[in-house]
Amino acid sequence: MPNFELRVEDLSHPGTRIFFANVNPEEALREAVVSVCSWLFTLQDVPLNVQNVRLVLRNMPGVAYTTGSYTHKEIHFALSHIENSATRARDEIRGVLTHEMVHCFQYNAKGTCPGGLIEGIADWVRLNAGLGPPHWKEGRGRKWDAGYESTAYFLSWIEAQSGRGTIRNLNLGLEDRQYSDAVFQDLTGSSIQDLWRLYRLDLETRGVV
Ligand SMILES: [Zn+2]
Repeated sequence: MPNFELRVEDLSHPGTRIFFANVNPEEALREAVVSVCSWLFTLQDVPLNVQNVRLVLRNMPGVAYTTGSYTHKEIHFALSHIENSATRARDEIRGVLTHEMVHCFQYNAKGTCPGGLIEGIADWVRLNAGLGPPHWKEGRGRKWDAGYESTAYFLSWIEAQSGRGTIRNLNLGLEDRQYSDAVFQDLTGSSIQDLWRLYRLDLETRGVV
C-alpha cells in the first residue's frame, strides 16, 4: 500500500464538507488501491513503483485528473464536482477515486496507448468495483476506443467472451512495448475490428441499441 497524503485547498467550499461527511479519505484511497490491484494485477505482478499518492481537493473545472512522477502520484479532484454530486456523494467520490487510482498504476505502452483505451480501462475497473454512476448507459460509443464507460462496457464484453483475466492481461501487455491493436488478437484470437463488430451485433440482438 502506498503512503497517502491529503491536501485541501479550500476548507470553506461546500464540496469539502460533503467530502468529509461521506468518506474517510484513508479508507477511500485504500479501497481504490485494492480495487485496482485486484482487477488489473495478481499478487505476483503488482507494481511497486507507486510509493506515495497525494489527493488534492481543490477549486478547478471538470472532475478529476492524475499527475505526478513514477513514484509519487497526485490525484486532483474538483470540489465543485463533489458539491454537484451531493445526492450520491459517497459512491461518486469512491468511483472517481477508483478511476483515478487506475491511472496511478496502469501501464500505457510507454506512452503510445490510445487515450480512449487508457480511460476505458479506468472506467472498466470502476464498473467492476460496482461504482458506475446511474447515468452510464451501454451502447453509446461509436468506435471501440471512444473511451470512458463506452469502452469500459466493450472491455466487459470482451472479458465475458474470452474469460476472466483478459483485461488484466491486456494491461500487462501494455507494460513494456509500443501499442499495437494486435494485442487484442493475441489475447482473444480476434482482431479489434471483429470484436467491435460482434459486440455491436450482440448489443442489437439484446435490444440495447
Ligand atoms: Zn481518466
